[in-house]
Amino acid sequence: MKQIKLKGKDIFNGTHLLGPGKVLLLSEDGVVAGIVAESEAGSDVTEVDGILCPGFVNTHCHLELSHMKGVIPEKTGLPAFLTHVMQSRNQGAGDINAIIDKAEQDMWETGISAVGDICNSNATLVKKQQGRMYYHSFVECMGVAPAGANSRYQYSMDVLHSFREINGPHHQCSIVPHAPYSVSGSLFELLAHTPDNTPVCIHNQETPAENELYQQKTGEFLSFYQHFGMDISAFQPTGTNSLEAYLPYFSGNKILLVHNTFTSSEDIEFTQQQPVETWWCLCPQANLYIENRLPDIEQFRRMKCNITLGTDSLASNHRLSIWEEIKTIRAHFPEIPLEEILQWATFNGAKALGIQETYGSFNTGCKPGVVLINQESSRII
Ligand SMILES: [Zn+2]
Repeated sequence: MKQIKLKGKDIFNGTHLLGPGKVLLLSEDGVVAGIVAESEAGSDVTEVDGILCPGFVNTHCHLELSHMKGVIPEKTGLPAFLTHVMQSRNQGAGDINAIIDKAEQDMWETGISAVGDICNSNATLVKKQQGRMYYHSFVECMGVAPAGANSRYQYSMDVLHSFREINGPHHQCSIVPHAPYSVSGSLFELLAHTPDNTPVCIHNQETPAENELYQQKTGEFLSFYQHFGMDISAFQPTGTNSLEAYLPYFSGNKILLVHNTFTSSEDIEFTQQQPVETWWCLCPQANLYIENRLPDIEQFRRMKCNITLGTDSLASNHRLSIWEEIKTIRAHFPEIPLEEILQWATFNGAKALGIQETYGSFNTGCKPGVVLINQESSRII
């Protein structure tokens, strides 16, 4: 079979920049055959202008919210943002399938190969069935009243079952809690005891109001609950940050914590003492869109956290592009080496989703997709 031979200015293999003078060898269908010195590559080497990189892994997206692009005002804070989403998510959807097609196409063209995607319904099922990209569907469950926990759980389990039918090499799924402020203790229990359910994910510490709720049962979420007539009377504040209160439910599992904009070093220390495999997903553009603030990324690096990247949804972002997230991080934290951020965007994301045998690196036998990075990122295979 004919080989594809690619030489760029540099090759990033998922964890390291290998330097110039190397050639990436792939089979015609994109499976990595190896990386060799230029002198050993033989003829027919195609030279491209930029860094060759495995396809990106977007570990947090909501494809089903793609019709809300530009609908919600920016920098309002999370409680106001959520109020807008809940009031307008069913309006003006137009042809939702065409909008989802377009959003996936944009992810594809900017070099994303695999996605961790939040689902509240089966709106994205048809798209995922096509198997163009890898998806892990995180079927999200929420409900603050303990009395409603069983019916909420059952509803989401029904959605999960419809996604399980398309499980295979291009799809896996699990049922997950939405956020610490939207899930009762009873519902956390049900979710945590679901068998064969890994990894899980949760929106974590995206707003200061979340920690305040758990510390003292005060703050902006109380008026949010009141606005929507949600009964929060059973909620008892723990006097801790939210993370300390819920993480022990997931002992023995693997969890992807998403956003972490208001996570402290004490929270991270606590997490590192728990028997939970923890991954920290950063969605910087969405954080700027909603709260106009970024997580303390230096703190996560210093404390040797496993970092991944996500785009969040088109309700809270202008693009679904991991390269745009990387550019935002580089603009705010110019001291972080590109090599390190690229690992968050590729190999780490694949490990977090448990798909590192195929995605996220140029290890021999993987089929990660190939991205060319110069000023922009673009898919070449
Ligand atoms: Zn999200």
